[in-house]
Amino acid sequence: MMTSRSEPLFEQASQYLVGGVNSAVRAFRAVGGTPVFMRRGEGAWIEDVDGKQYVDYVLSYGPLAMGHAHPDVVRAITDTAARGTSFGAPTELETELAMKVQAIMPGIERLRMVNSGTEACMSAVRLARGYTGRDRVLKFRGNYHGHVDALLVEAGSGVLTLGIPGSPGVPAAVTETTLTAPYNDIDAVRQLFAEYGDTIAAVLVEPVSGNMNCVPALPSFLRGLRELCDESGALLVFDEVMSGFRAALGGAQAWYGIDPDLTCLGKVIGGGLPTAALGGRADVMDWLAPTGPVYQAGTLSGNPLAMASGLATLAALSQPGVHADAVAWTARLLEGLRERAAGAGVPLFTHQAGTMFGLFFTDSDSVVGFEDVAACDGERFKRFFHGMLEAGVYLAPSAFEAGFVSTAHDETALQHTLDAAERVFADL
Ligand SMILES: *Cc1c(COP(=O)(O)O)cnc(C)c1O
Repeated sequence: MMTSRSEPLFEQASQYLVGGVNSAVRAFRAVGGTPVFMRRGEGAWIEDVDGKQYVDYVLSYGPLAMGHAHPDVVRAITDTAARGTSFGAPTELETELAMKVQAIMPGIERLRMVNSGTEACMSAVRLARGYTGRDRVLKFRGNYHGHVDALLVEAGSGVLTLGIPGSPGVPAAVTETTLTAPYNDIDAVRQLFAEYGDTIAAVLVEPVSGNMNCVPALPSFLRGLRELCDESGALLVFDEVMSGFRAALGGAQAWYGIDPDLTCLGKVIGGGLPTAALGGRADVMDWLAPTGPVYQAGTLSGNPLAMASGLATLAALSQPGVHADAVAWTARLLEGLRERAAGAGVPLFTHQAGTMFGLFFTDSDSVVGFEDVAACDGERFKRFFHGMLEAGVYLAPSAFEAGFVSTAHDETALQHTLDAAERVFADL
């Protein structure tokens, strides 16, 4: 018996909101059943409208690096709100957050705050095109860069190495300049550069892919991209909307030791409020308006509430040992899950990138590309998902989403999760 109040609430919501949700990933289309309505969260736990508690591994799809309702973050937001929520004029908080980001990610010399990861990626493409005077962009199959027209390429649609993708609702003219290649396949990228190199403005990549479950890039793949971009004059754009402040505190760029030209940030940078950012080399960033000709603006960009929330989150997260402890916790979680899966005879492969993780129901020990993820046992994931949900563990309702850990995940949450997994694995 699943939660009861969620069902009528979802029915009602569906009459007013498309599909009953405001972001497609929240619907339970892939796993079946009714989305669970939540009413509060504290630390690692969320509570649904029936009062049932869950250990949360969704964390709003990544932003809540300090867990739900962290006291510092709540205080920063309420104190700031009491002084006014938006001015349309510069505030010190914007500079403070930019300084904090730069201290954590020294490769980012200049920043522009925006309101969503989608905006950051959209602006990255426009800036790269303006700066290089070239039109083509290259992205990878299974990577997600928000719902940007030119980047919204149907994953799993049979798009091949040299294919030119299309997407419903997007004029062909917009995607004609988008090239795609398989993730972690540097030879395919080399071929594309051989053919199109002098017309490629940017390579956009999730250095840790978190939108086809969690699949870290091979170091040689990212090094290869850096070299190809340097040779051809294309900009290397790391989409760290998800991996930023997670793969390592300094993001995937710190984890791999590779500097991109531009970085897209989102999710954790706002600590649960809507903000995101585009950052990178000053000589490139200064091509944005008002110093440069590439237009970009936003009514609520850099708004005080989101800046305060982001600052409080990053200040707490960057205290010595705080992120490292959450990474160590994540490793123990995965070790515990693998042990219990093995005990029940369920083949399980895992990936970890800092406080991001991926669970794969496969007996393969190599998951590097979209096809590897798609080949996992989807039926088994569905049963695992619903079993864990019933047992009070909240995972994303899709085998193509990463899992997230916060600094608030403690021994109690770990034990609760592993006990639940032991029972659920036994039923698979
Ligand atoms: C979530 C995400 C985006 C889009 O961010 P929104 O804030 O949802 O628009 C872009 N890129 C990556 C890698 C993401 O994970």
